[in-house]
Order: sequence, then C-alpha cells, then structure tokens
Amino acid sequence: MGVWPARVSIREVGLRDGLQSIATIVPTTQKCEWIAGAHRAGMREIEVGSFVPPRLLPQLADTAAVLTFAKTLPGLFASVLIPNLKGAERALEGKADLMILPLSASQAHSLANLRKAPDDVVAEMAQIRAARDASGSRTLIEGGIGTAFGCTIQGAVDEAEVLRLMQALLDAGADRVSLADTVGYADPASVRRLFEKALRIAGNRFSGGHFHDTRGLALANTVAALELGVTRFDASLAGIGGCPHAPGASGNATTEDLAFMLEAMGCRTGIDLRALLALRQHVVGWIPAEPTHGALWRAGLPKTFAGIQ
Ligand code: ZN
Repeated sequence: MGVWPARVSIREVGLRDGLQSIATIVPTTQKCEWIAGAHRAGMREIEVGSFVPPRLLPQLADTAAVLTFAKTLPGLFASVLIPNLKGAERALEGKADLMILPLSASQAHSLANLRKAPDDVVAEMAQIRAARDASGSRTLIEGGIGTAFGCTIQGAVDEAEVLRLMQALLDAGADRVSLADTVGYADPASVRRLFEKALRIAGNRFSGGHFHDTRGLALANTVAALELGVTRFDASLAGIGGCPHAPGASGNATTEDLAFMLEAMGCRTGIDLRALLALRQHVVGWIPAEPTHGALWRAGLPKTFAGIQ
C-alpha cells in the first residue's frame, strides 16, 4: 500500500458554493441535468443547494425541488447547506442525506455573514440535533468550520479557537465536522498543522477539507490533507464560484482537475473523467457571462492516463 488513500470522495459543491457566488440564475431543469450528469459520471456526493431565505440567495430558491430530484438518483448522497434551525427543518422535510451547518471561526466574518457569533451557531447546532433526533430522521449533520485559516475581514484566525469550536460542535451533536479555507489563505504547511490537530480531536468524525483556489493552492492543500489520510474533498465543476468581494478570484477547487490529480495518483474517485469533461463543457455553456476555471479541459487527458476512461 502506498502513502495515498486508495479511495477518495469528491463532493460536488458547484450547485451551492459555485452558483451562490455568481449572478446568473441557472434554471431548475439545468441544475437537475447537472446533477444527473455528475451522477452518470460516477459522482456520488453532491451538495445540491442551500435552505437560506430566497430573498438572500435567489440563485438557490429552488433547492427543495432540486433536492427532490437528487433523491431519485440511486446511490446519490445529497447534501444541503442550512443556515439555521429553520433551514434544518426544510432539509429534514426534503429527506436530505446530510445537512451542513456552516460556522465561521472568525468572529468578524461570522457576525458579517451569519449575523451570529460562532458560539451562537454552536447553540443552534444543539437545537438542530434535537430536532433531527425528535423527527426520527436519518439525515446526518455536519458542522462546516469556515475561515479556518484566516479571514478577509478579521485577518488572522486563532488555531486554538478553530479547534475549540470544532470540539464544541461535536459536543453539541454534529455527526461530523469539516474544515474550510473559505478565502484561500491556506498553504500546505498550515493545512498539515491544523488538520493534524483536527483529526486528533474529531477522529473518524472528521469529514473532509473544503479548499478554495483563490491563490492557486487548492490542489497543493488537498495533497497535504491526503498525506494525513483525509479522504473527502469539496470541489466545484469548472471552478465555478469565486468571491463577490474579490473580482477575478477563483472559486472552489476545480472538480475535474482534482479528480484527475487523484486518479493519476492512484486514489480511486469512481469518476469517469471524459464524462465529467463533457459535462463541464455543457454546464459552462449555460453561464457564458461567468468566469470559469481549471486546467485539464484545456489540454485534455494525457496519453499515459490510467484512470477510468
Ligand atoms: Zn466555500
């Protein structure tokens, strides 16, 4: 056995993190086509939307319908973002497989984006866990800790504070936790440092890494986490997304580039890269006004590529 995990899951988050960050509103039928195409290409984890009030994010107003569609695809693990208990109730109603409650480790970012202090989000987690248990639902709950490597408003975010909040989320009833470099401040050394400690706290309840490619380090950061045995990563097809406050900044790790890197390293993702590249082209055609990212689509697969094709 080599140093790399034999199997790695990529969770497609373009339909949530990607689409919420761009102005174009993609119609429900196209979102469903995207999900079906990703499923056909072998993806088995997709974050399909977010149960935030539609007036805040009209791009994701159809999340309930998209989730209903996603639930018809065999073997697909469909997750949604939830900002609060109200969102959790909708996720439970829609029988999401997983709901992700974001928590910003940066106090300033948390107040600006969620209008709540991080510890208020921890309290909300406890309420969400109670609601889930009372409903008898099997929907899992993930606490997604954002701005874990720093924040555009506050600057530095204390590592001890990130880890304290992670423990607090677990104690409040999160089934799993993940770490996100929301603004692209992480580097492989800081990923190794923080993820090592996080894994010691969360053990097998550590879900994975969410890297943004704002400064071109998403893949390098992924490798740093892989070396520690992390086996789930978020990514967005064509790197769709970005940051409304940083023009030109790219979004999440690009799904097809990440899948290519993993497959080339011998980490099986279950993804058919040719099918994924075809889907990329299709989806990019729906959002002609938006910047897209990624490298693999330009050059295609190397002749020596041994993954699924
Ligand atoms: Zn993100």
